Amino acid sequence: MIQAIDIYYRLREEVDSQVAVLEKLHKDWMACRKGCCSCCLNLSVWPVEFYAILEQMKAAKWPKPQFNEGKECGFLDREDGCQIYPFRPIICRTHGLPLAYWQDDSHPPGYGIIFCDQNFDAAGDIGFDANNTLNMDQVNEKLARINIVFLEENPDLNLAPADRIELRELLTCLEV
Ligand code: SF4
Ligand code: SF4
Repeated sequence: MIQAIDIYYRLREEVDSQVAVLEKLHKDWMACRKGCCSCCLNLSVWPVEFYAILEQMKAAKWPKPQFNEGKECGFLDREDGCQIYPFRPIICRTHGLPLAYWQDDSHPPGYGIIFCDQNFDAAGDIGFDANNTLNMDQVNEKLARINIVFLEENPDLNLAPADRIELRELLTCLEV
C-alpha cells in the first residue's frame, strides 16, 4: 500500500515542476545563486517531511552534515552552500519565487505575495497573478493532509498534527 512518505515525495516533485516553470518565467528577474543565503533560516518541519528527508539521506548514505551554529541555517557550509540540497524541505525549493498566501486581514481580504527583494522590486516589477506565482496555501494544505496520514501510520511517534520537528534533529537521527 502506498505510504504517506511516498505521497510526500510526489508532492515535492509536483512543487519542483511548478518551481521550474516559474523560474523559467521569471528568469530575467531571478538573482538566486549558490552562496546567496539570506533566505535561509533554521527551520522546523512537519514530521512527514522530516522522516522523508531522513529516509532519503540514509538511503543515499549521505555524509553527515556539520551543523554550523553561526549561520542563518546551520546546514549552510562555509561557502554558504546547502549541505542537504537534494533533500531540502519544500519551502527551501520555493526560495526567491513570488509566493501567494491568503490574507484575511488585508483590505479587502485576498492573496498577498511574498518575494525576495533581491529578485523583484517591492513596487512590483511585474504584475503578479495566479499564473505567475506559487500558491503556498494549496501546497501547505496538501502537506498538512499528508502529515496527518503519516501520523496515523506511525502512532508510535506519539506526535500531534500541529507538532513540528527542528531540521537540525536530522543530525541526532543520523547518528543511530
Ligand atoms: S535546509 Fe538548505 S536550503 Fe533550506 S534553509 Fe537550510 S541551508 Fe537553506
Ligand atoms: S531568494 Fe533572495 S536571498 Fe535567497 S538565494 Fe534568491 S536572491 Fe538570494
